[in-house]
Amino acid sequence: MASSSSSSPSPCYYSNSPCAACKFLRRKCLPGCTFAPYFPPEEPTKFANVHKIFGASNVSKLLNEISPHQREDAVNSLAYEAEARIKDPVYGCVGSISVLQRQVLKLQKELEATNADLMRYACDGSLAGVLGTGSGSRVSDGSSSASFDQGSGCFVRFSSSNP
Ligand SMILES: [Zn+2]
Repeated sequence: MASSSSSSPSPCYYSNSPCAACKFLRRKCLPGCTFAPYFPPEEPTKFANVHKIFGASNVSKLLNEISPHQREDAVNSLAYEAEARIKDPVYGCVGSISVLQRQVLKLQKELEATNADLMRYACDGSLAGVLGTGSGSRVSDGSSSASFDQGSGCFVRFSSSNP
């Protein structure tokens, strides 16, 4: 059985190890395998997770429906979601997202409070020049104009609250 050098892949296609997907599914990894570029044999759990959560045939279908340059991102996204869902079967990656959203809200409030403090300190004089108009919602609210009083080093708002 002298095979020529230009032969098509022989039935014994095991010179290169099969991709993680084909190995997991115990099938032959043929050239042009949909999974091979994204599920290398060195990362067996990546495919195992994705298969467990989404199913190999769904993943294959999805990969064939999208353009090749999007496939890597899609696989990474699936792998991330699958891993999150295995860790947290109820919330999956939504769990992490809501934790982060709460953190963002908390930090936004903190930032608002800090900005308010800064504006108050600015009225003590030392920081006033640095802050200028700032992004503070306190100084320029609505149409009432504010100007900087050089004498007191403080923002003076021409509104009804001024004595
Ligand atoms: Zn394969």
